[in-house]
Amino acid sequence: MRTFAVTLLIVSLPNTTQAQKPTAPAPAQVVQAVRDYRMDNEDRIIRELSEFLSIPNIASDTPNIQKNAARLVEMLEARGIETHLLPITGRGPVVFGKLITPEAKRTVIFYAHYDGQPVDPAAWTGGKPFEPVLRDAAVEAGGKRIPFPESNAKHRSMYDDNWRLYARSSSDDKSPIVALLAAIDALRAKKIPLGVNLKVIFEGEEEAGSPNLQRTLELHKNLLGADLLITADGPVHQSGRPLVFFGNRGDIGIDITVYGPVRALHSGHYGNWAPNPAMELSRLLASMKDADGRVLIDGYYEDVAPLGDVEKKALAEMPENDADLERELGIAKPEGSGRKLVELIMQPSLNIRGLRSAYVGEQAQNIVPDRAEASLDARLVKGEDPQKKFEQIAAFINKRGYYVIDREPTMEERRTHALIAKVIDQGGYRASRTPMDLAVSKKVVEIVERAAGPPVKMPTLGGTAPMFIFEELGLPAIGVPIVNADNHQHSSDENLRLGHFWRGMEIYGAILADLNW
Ligand SMILES: [Zn+2]
Repeated sequence: MRTFAVTLLIVSLPNTTQAQKPTAPAPAQVVQAVRDYRMDNEDRIIRELSEFLSIPNIASDTPNIQKNAARLVEMLEARGIETHLLPITGRGPVVFGKLITPEAKRTVIFYAHYDGQPVDPAAWTGGKPFEPVLRDAAVEAGGKRIPFPESNAKHRSMYDDNWRLYARSSSDDKSPIVALLAAIDALRAKKIPLGVNLKVIFEGEEEAGSPNLQRTLELHKNLLGADLLITADGPVHQSGRPLVFFGNRGDIGIDITVYGPVRALHSGHYGNWAPNPAMELSRLLASMKDADGRVLIDGYYEDVAPLGDVEKKALAEMPENDADLERELGIAKPEGSGRKLVELIMQPSLNIRGLRSAYVGEQAQNIVPDRAEASLDARLVKGEDPQKKFEQIAAFINKRGYYVIDREPTMEERRTHALIAKVIDQGGYRASRTPMDLAVSKKVVEIVERAAGPPVKMPTLGGTAPMFIFEELGLPAIGVPIVNADNHQHSSDENLRLGHFWRGMEIYGAILADLNW
């Protein structure tokens, strides 16, 4: 589809005379101008992205995360964007930028994050997370590693749409930043004025739960005057269609440790007698949900804010692709009693994100372990309070007969209580949702549609982002993600499909040039 569209454009180019008028051209013209610019500058754009991806970006890696911020300052200042670092002690600062457009009546804040999830380099296929690799297709589709094309002024459009760039944060969430900046370059090169004032907020600890974002922004409220927040975080719809979303789930993290004897014991000499914490923890976790995935914890669904008619309609209109996903992911029977994925995303979740007790495989030892640990995450929807959710889960554990504490048990406690659970609140934050029938909501959908075809409209994305902070500032927050859905976000082999990246540039170009409501 896209290859075809590009071919047609090559035939009809160049036709930028209209785009050079200083009035706002239609999104389709902007798209054409951005594409034309991109085809002449792919090498430069990919180089800027690759260099950015080569700087390791785990939020807790202070020297490197600050290098990322310094690089962002260079990238923004190179475009004449007024830049401020909003410092966070020992972490990556919030990078703030401002680009004023004379005559513009609206101000849009564009949010993205420059940190990434932790990496396990051994799990990456034929490469390392911070050494970007180009492949001619996805790894799962047999994609082969290929060299970056030699820069050659004679050749436009050197990169195939289906090629993929592999690196941590290639999709989540550095590429939208580069796409936005490249879109600004394109508009300038084609003499298309921006239609809005632009502010950017690039966060350096989103994947670590944004523990300092709200406080940091509150200290700099004077910078944040705006009419809209656009977040770039997240993938487009699995169908490949563009996506506009109007909310994010919140989430909380919980770590549970269940205790056995003070030290691991020989399973022959002590099995059948020493209580096994892995067995107890399994029983506890299994009792939290029924076989259809419904959470059995008291009050778990009671605060869910109901969807309005517009949201229900949008859900009904979403593409039916559950069967495709089941096939792709090797799933025989999903949870949810037959309800669709998109409906289930509108509910709070409870997930075991990791389990650990003693050893498995070649390291397996015949022991009764001394402890078993689980890490859970719960995604929250509009209406739910993170603290209350934690308390519901802790109360459930208590109701199952556990003595619940938030530290290691003493010997006295071990001798007194048969079941002890250390339950640690890892914190989190609430969900957000912008009404889909606001004038600005409709306008964003219209621009994306004219730029890239009808988007899938989603009341809430399944993923979490700290958009509630902007909601509290009174800003509508709308998500316009650009990256492919099969990007391996958060795991090994994270990748960006270049066709999506190029289309993202075009969408952001159209928004910058045409957004007005
Ligand atoms: Zn992200």
